[in-house]
Amino acid sequence: MRKEDCIFCKIANGEIPSKTLYEDDMFRVILDLGPATKGHALILPKEHAANLYELPEETAAAAMVVAKKMAQKMKEKLHCDGLNLVQNNGETAGQTVMHFHLHVIPRYNNDGQHILWNPGTSTQEELEAVRKEITE
Ligand code: 5GP
Ligand code: ZN
Repeated sequence: MRKEDCIFCKIANGEIPSKTLYEDDMFRVILDLGPATKGHALILPKEHAANLYELPEETAAAAMVVAKKMAQKMKEKLHCDGLNLVQNNGETAGQTVMHFHLHVIPRYNNDGQHILWNPGTSTQEELEAVRKEITE
């Protein structure tokens, strides 16, 4: 279903024009308006889901297949040196548009972007406590 006031619903379904790289029954892939690097793209499902929690499993699986197609394309056409898939859920995690989207970000040597995190430290005991918290 589409959500009335959702900009990515409108873009995904072609009501607002976008620089489309790929389209099928389930998805539209567009260029990000504020690209981190050349070729930064967004994979948008045509059906509204606010985030990964709401996304149907079938759509989640299909999104990764589209991501793989796009990664291949970026490598072939843009000759990127690397590529990040980024997917933010919730304001705390940096989500600004509340319609699920998967970022495909081609990376180039010395592109000046910092998409990785600062590694922390942990003990085996701490890891075990977290493992238990998640799985039990
Ligand atoms: P988020 O921070 O929610 O993971 O990512 C939202 C992304 O959508 C941002 O990278 C932003 O540049 C992009 N964006 C926001 N509005 C528009 C728009 O109207 N058109 C396009 N093509 N990208 C948009
Ligand atoms: Zn939407």
